[in-house]
Amino acid sequence: MKRRNFIKKASATGLGLVAISSTLISCDSDSKSSEKKVVPSILESIRPLVIATWKTDLAVETAAAVLEKGGSALDAVEQGCRIEEANEQGQSVGKGGLPDRDGNVTLDACIMDSKGNYGAVLGVKNIKHVISVARKVMEDTPHVMLVAEGAEQFAVSKGFEREDLLTEASKKAWEKWKETSEYKPIINIENHDTIGMLAIDKDGNISGACTTSGLAYKMAGRVGDSPIIGGGLFVDNEIGGASATGLGEEVLKTVGSFLIVELMRQGKSPQEACEEAIGRIVNKPGKDFKDFQVGYIAVNKQGKTGAYSIHEWFSYNIYKDKENKNIKSDYFNKA
Ligand code: ASP
Repeated sequence: MKRRNFIKKASATGLGLVAISSTLISCDSDSKSSEKKVVPSILESIRPLVIATWKTDLAVETAAAVLEKGGSALDAVEQGCRIEEANEQGQSVGKGGLPDRDGNVTLDACIMDSKGNYGAVLGVKNIKHVISVARKVMEDTPHVMLVAEGAEQFAVSKGFEREDLLTEASKKAWEKWKETSEYKPIINIENHDTIGMLAIDKDGNISGACTTSGLAYKMAGRVGDSPIIGGGLFVDNEIGGASATGLGEEVLKTVGSFLIVELMRQGKSPQEACEEAIGRIVNKPGKDFKDFQVGYIAVNKQGKTGAYSIHEWFSYNIYKDKENKNIKSDYFNKA
């Protein structure tokens, strides 16, 4: 009962809809709405589409602009994520990200294309656009993951410039944290700003990307879900894609994004799949989830979207059509 009381109706706060013209198609998060067989004319109308975690308007607009010009979903998600990586105000992604408990900013990112290719970098210092480094890993190496110094060296060899990622504001926040906090990573429930982004291009192909500085004041060497295939991101061009934000340890333990795509494969709508993935976390026996957040976004091949989170302060940003501007989504946790 206690757990049931805790789970409450959650509404999408700060839902941002980017209005750039595209043909109208229903863009709801209603888990009860039935999936319809998609006919080619409808398929035309769902493209292009971008969905991203949090209120990342400029990132979504940038990705949408790439798609509107006929660019690929892969280019769109990379360009969109780069906006947040360069945004020094955002303290959970790229430059200005909050450091680990030793004061080092380390970044994680991954990308997946519509052919099922994947590239990732983990624990990278001094390089801002790790999403682009992840893409280079995917496209220019025989590997899928590079970590720490190896990833940094690889980035430099590809022309990326080293820079100090710790801004004055993040340094101050870290110094303040050191004064008042125990010397252990905290679960900062209000600072999950990882950007996960999924896009469908005009050809109907799906790609996704995810980039983060991880948990604020994490232990040195800690890596979360964001750069891990099936955790922070998964794309199957036949089915759809999913991405996660929040406490990466919980996402990883339930292989959240892969789970969502597999649930969609079995016939669930993106909304139903996101809800079930959250359920897998909160319904574990004795799970106390009041101190952490996990949020998912998903899209299927038909252009239906879903989003769901443990707590109400989760938002996502979608570009699809101007008619749906200001649509309000309500999320209900059914656990
Ligand atoms: N998912 C990220 C991680 O666990 C954190 C976040 O979303 O802010 O590294």
